[in-house]
Amino acid sequence: MATAAPEIRALTASAFRAPAKFTEFCRNGGKPLGGFVDGETIRGSMNVTFETIDPGTQEVLATVCEMGEAEVARAVAAAQKAFNGQGAKSWRNVDVEERIRLVNKLVELCDRDRDVLLACEIFDGGKVSELAEGDFTQIRECAQYFSGVARRIKLGDGEAMKVADGVKGFTHREPWGVVAGIIPWNYPIVLTSWFMFPALLSGNTILIKPAEDTPLSALYIAKLAQEAGFPAGVINVLPGRGEITGHAIAEHPGVRYIAFTGSPGVGQAILRTCDRHGTRMKRELGGNGAAIVLADADPEVVARMVGKYTNQHYGQTCCTIHRVFVDKKIADDFIDAQTQFFKELKIGYQADEGTQLGAVINATQRRRILQAEQETVARGAQPLLGGGDASVSGKNGFYLKPSLYRTTPELNVNPAEVFHTYATICPVSSAEEALQLANSSPYGLGSSVWTKDIERGVSLAKQFRDGTGQVNCHNSIAYGLPYGGQGISGGPGGGVNCEETFLDYTQVKAVYVADYPA
Ligand code: NAD
Repeated sequence: MATAAPEIRALTASAFRAPAKFTEFCRNGGKPLGGFVDGETIRGSMNVTFETIDPGTQEVLATVCEMGEAEVARAVAAAQKAFNGQGAKSWRNVDVEERIRLVNKLVELCDRDRDVLLACEIFDGGKVSELAEGDFTQIRECAQYFSGVARRIKLGDGEAMKVADGVKGFTHREPWGVVAGIIPWNYPIVLTSWFMFPALLSGNTILIKPAEDTPLSALYIAKLAQEAGFPAGVINVLPGRGEITGHAIAEHPGVRYIAFTGSPGVGQAILRTCDRHGTRMKRELGGNGAAIVLADADPEVVARMVGKYTNQHYGQTCCTIHRVFVDKKIADDFIDAQTQFFKELKIGYQADEGTQLGAVINATQRRRILQAEQETVARGAQPLLGGGDASVSGKNGFYLKPSLYRTTPELNVNPAEVFHTYATICPVSSAEEALQLANSSPYGLGSSVWTKDIERGVSLAKQFRDGTGQVNCHNSIAYGLPYGGQGISGGPGGGVNCEETFLDYTQVKAVYVADYPA
């Protein structure tokens, strides 16, 4: 086993240059990119624009129009019209095979313009190509999975049951109507797909609110959706800041359901707004993932695997590992190996060959991470690698070094999601102690156990207070299995990517029918 360890490496960039089509899209003939509402590109009545930058250089990629209350109202009206179909055939009644045909067409167009969408992830999102390419595959996989679900799960009337003499009852399941997806910046293509396909295939019309840091892929997908032939108003894209555009969406009573992915604090605030309006809301929020390493594990191999997951998108992955609990018997070897792995990470520009640790998304994140590093030490952790700023020759991006700390069970050094290549390692006396510490976090997204004893690993993994428990793997996602959070990491519902997700985009009513009174 130990000989395989050096082959376990971090996700790595191949050299990537922006295709001309991406540059043209961003330049947009010298005009800011508009929102997409009712089949049209619109500028927005506020006349406010914002710039989206490459985090690795801070160069402006595109200027984008911000959508305000008026544009949100217009998008909701267009989506309602498309759902109910005044005159035209309504999206709610479009045959499922026709919805699948349009979705497939959109996927084909995404495949045709793969390089443009990869450029969005790499330049706008700051990703290395190996990760961006993996993300891109999710468009097709997600569409295919939910097309299958849409064929299997029939909406409409359920079987009638006798309720009383002369009275029968049945369920009626139907789409919500207008639903909104509020998307974070870290996985724009993946999370837009995870929202868009189940929501559309179950018969809803949609509003997509991309993150202000990464609006480009959703705007490009809107263009492709129009080319694919989606009727006007079925897909609307509303770029802008959370407190302006996102807030206007949450405040609009015509939005029946909101799928929010982002940070717990923002999710909780939107939930309060939704409650005021009676809007249903699903939350997929942040995490502070744990890895438990048992004494039988090979410390070098597992340290490299844990390091790889900790560094996925430079730690800007919701379910990634930030807390490691390792059996004391192998702790020193494990710590040496993970320190070595972090030291070897190649810091660089995300589109340059060989980069493994690129710039974080923006200046605010950089500040938050630096502050978290200081707080970790102030709470008593011993720095193994202290983090701090990094520089990359010729690039003015938000570059940071990885950070790694040794800690002890009585210290709570790492209470909140840090969102960087950052981890604390705590030597423990038993798996039970590790589990108790792992579960002491208010988050509950995804954690893992690392051991050769699969049965024991499975037994421990099932005891995590998390939506996802894993053995010898991490950041795991598969269509057909729910991906969701417990604690402050999310809820309610079955998470994303499973049949329950599809049902979440529908409402069920009970219908009672009594014989007319004699
Ligand atoms: P964020 O909460 O700041 O923003 C998420 C989205 O909400 C953005 O589109 C933003 O514009 C919008 N928003 C912000 N304030 C708003 C408001 N007041 N009203 C309405 N909308 C508002 O999160 P982020 O920094 O973009 O993303 C990182 C977070 O997302 C991390 O916590 C990460 O763990 C989490 N995340 C979770 C998952 C998951 O599946 N559980 C996946 C990816 C990211």
